[in-house]
Amino acid sequence: MRLGPNVAALLLVLLGCVACATPGGSPGTLADIKPGERPALDSDEAGLWMQMDRLEESLRTSGRLVTDPGLNAYVREMVCKLVGPYCADIRVYVVQTPHFNASMAPNGTMQVWTGLVLRAENEAQLAYVLGHEIAHYLRRHSVQLWRDVRSKSSMSVYFRLLTAAAGVGFVGSLADLAALASVHAFSRDNEREADELGFELMVKAGYDPREAPQIWEALLKERAATKDSAPFIFFATHPATEERIDTLKKLAEKTAAGGGHGRVGKEQFLAASLPLRATLLRDELRRREFAGSQVVLDRLFEGGVGLGELHYFQGELYRLRAHEGDSAKAIATYQKAVEMGDAPAETHRALGLLFSAAGEKEKARSSFERYLHKRPDAEDRAMIRAYLQQLE
Ligand SMILES: [Zn+2]
Repeated sequence: MRLGPNVAALLLVLLGCVACATPGGSPGTLADIKPGERPALDSDEAGLWMQMDRLEESLRTSGRLVTDPGLNAYVREMVCKLVGPYCADIRVYVVQTPHFNASMAPNGTMQVWTGLVLRAENEAQLAYVLGHEIAHYLRRHSVQLWRDVRSKSSMSVYFRLLTAAAGVGFVGSLADLAALASVHAFSRDNEREADELGFELMVKAGYDPREAPQIWEALLKERAATKDSAPFIFFATHPATEERIDTLKKLAEKTAAGGGHGRVGKEQFLAASLPLRATLLRDELRRREFAGSQVVLDRLFEGGVGLGELHYFQGELYRLRAHEGDSAKAIATYQKAVEMGDAPAETHRALGLLFSAAGEKEKARSSFERYLHKRPDAEDRAMIRAYLQQLE
């Protein structure tokens, strides 16, 4: 990677900043952050916060944030339920990017990526991941890491921190967002601690602890399907191992045996996320990681909600993948979507295009007409009318 002049300048500033930072305690012995606490202005921690404040500003103006007020309020409320007195210290940003990720910067900037929203099945699963991230914040793991890096001068971690800082001013690309999140390449011990504290937070907030290991398991399954061809940003910074899943399962069994099972919150989660699901699925398919997307779709099918919409996107997966025989599979799946009754109007347009390509003029015509009937104000109506004329 070549460093541009801005990055190089920042690098120097940061190196300078690190070199002249005031000593602020030895690594690994930090007390938990207190509600409303901000680091002393002359501390190295304040320097780190300042960088994060700048990153937060660029995130705010990146054009990548989900504006849907329902989902934003919902995630924000969940975070407050999990953190109690720290609620005002954490600012939640739902970022529209189709990868599984959540991150927490030391200044209280929390990112929740829509790829995570699409992959969570219910509120309890999302609460666990958010609880894990909140734990990193409460235990000040970023500051620990920052000091650790300084004392060990590990160049690779250094580089990640610097790249993250270089995201200032141009957050927007996936690489920038990932770099921003990668400040959290925590140690195994910190990860274990975040797993345990995240779990505690979720249980305290009344969620069913048995949901915690399930989201990790689903993610491992997805990774296995893609044969690691797709970069898993979350795994890069949060190494998921069978051991971690086992620990969570044991914790969940113990907790579930000792009391009630708690809330799963499937309906509430669906009420907040379903209005955006079509957009998120469209983003997901744009990744062109069809094996992984198939695992995601299979889980959604198991959930059994909005089957017409899901069949439409299954058809889209076949159409975009375009392997041999996929065209016929797409047609059959779109037709199933139409039978479900709640298929999006686009299903008819997709059918029209595929029938047209297959030379089935009559079927193509009636599909396009159905599309225009369902979407009289469609933006592409002129084009569809032109297709219809060609089919005469
Ligand atoms: Zn973590």
